[in-house]
Amino acid sequence: MKEHKHPSEPFRIKSVEPIALLPRAAREKVLKRARFNIFKVKAEEIYIDLLTDSGTGAMSIDQWAALMRGDESYAGARSFYRFEETVKDITGKKFIVPTHQGRVAENVFFSSVLKKGDYVPNNTHFDTTRANVIHKGGEAMDMPCPEADIEDDNPFKGNIDTQRLERFIEEKGADKVPVVFITVTNNSTGGQPVSMANIIEASTICHRHGILFYYDCARFAENAYFIKRYESGYEGKTIKEIAQEMFSYVDGALMSAKKDGLASMGGFVALSDEKLATKITELLIVIEGFPTYGGMSGRDIEAVTAGLKEVMNEDYLAYRVGQLEYFGNVIEQAGAPIIKPTGGHAIFINAGKFLPHIPPEQFPGQSLTVELYREGGIRGVEIGSIMFGGEDPETGKKYNAPKELVRLAVPRRVYTASHLDYVAETLRKIAARKGELNGFRITKEAKLLRHFTAEFEEMTSEQVEVS
Ligand SMILES: *Cc1c(COP(=O)(O)O)cnc(C)c1O
Repeated sequence: MKEHKHPSEPFRIKSVEPIALLPRAAREKVLKRARFNIFKVKAEEIYIDLLTDSGTGAMSIDQWAALMRGDESYAGARSFYRFEETVKDITGKKFIVPTHQGRVAENVFFSSVLKKGDYVPNNTHFDTTRANVIHKGGEAMDMPCPEADIEDDNPFKGNIDTQRLERFIEEKGADKVPVVFITVTNNSTGGQPVSMANIIEASTICHRHGILFYYDCARFAENAYFIKRYESGYEGKTIKEIAQEMFSYVDGALMSAKKDGLASMGGFVALSDEKLATKITELLIVIEGFPTYGGMSGRDIEAVTAGLKEVMNEDYLAYRVGQLEYFGNVIEQAGAPIIKPTGGHAIFINAGKFLPHIPPEQFPGQSLTVELYREGGIRGVEIGSIMFGGEDPETGKKYNAPKELVRLAVPRRVYTASHLDYVAETLRKIAARKGELNGFRITKEAKLLRHFTAEFEEMTSEQVEVS
């Protein structure tokens, strides 16, 4: 008997959304019209959309049914109390502040705790988290563990560098560091998990210095599953028990429910400090909504509440993480180098390694992103020098990202193994003629977050060779 591709889907499909691959000539036209920027391609022109796992998951029958229960009362809606009870049960925090997505949780939180010139250490900031820290006058410090860049068997590559954290606090003084964050899983380093041991160590350091310790917990359940699977002492615990223990070491958490909330929209701040909760809530009312809905409709709140319970189902998590492992394997077998281990929500192809003839200045990640669409109608996203490179405003010197990657994020409960096989087959075709892929030149760009709107020109092979 053939071995299973990955733990089978613990669900069957009840409703479908048609997708189709446009003919090749139409895809060429789409690319030209979009000026080779994949963000400007219409979703219906895409066959397999791996742009993000945020808000793109499929909801369950319980979530769809829960929408009908949504209480749209302005104040005191029963949907909120159900939500509050569920989040309290998982996090153990006293105050639950709803927001319509993660970045608003970041906004109200950082607005309430940061002073100009403060530092915020994090294993790695997600981009909206970094933007919100900077926007409130703070400085965002990334402190990934040293193992993050080494290819070995250590499964917890999302850890924070606790030695560096401690040195940093001693150097800057605890009064300059109001809060320390750990992002679970560590999105920006590839959805890599954080170990309970690392969480405990970071918590001890923060609390010894009287500093708040918080999670960015968008993928807390995926992280808990990795702890269960790889950290000794947790094999026999349920995901919920592990999640509850994780939350017991932090003072609070910010959540984007578009990930492990299994919903299309939603978020929250959870905390136990009443004074801080009051301050956050006052701002929430100004910018987001009344404290029993916070920018979500009653039905959104119901979908998140049901999603938060479902996401801790171990069969689901085994399928989810197993699917990512499987996807990583078939991509590697197709000849594309990936970042390992595979993490919880996306595969990162090392486009710099895959296309060594295209220098970083000509964006190998962009070249592969365009080719994935051209060859197979697939949408991934460049995470390289378009996203993280640029020009120093003072010296005018250009700089590149440390790595040229393409991220293929996997929406939750949406694609099957045959969809993933199709992506791998497309990569195999590209790999067979990868020497023919061209570099790109930016013809138009914005000052900030240029990757969303930049326009490109494809270089000819002669141009690639001379540079
Ligand atoms: C998505 C995400 C956010 C931001 O959440 P939004 O809901 O997109 O505003 C913050 N942190 C992490 C780790 C995320 O993945």
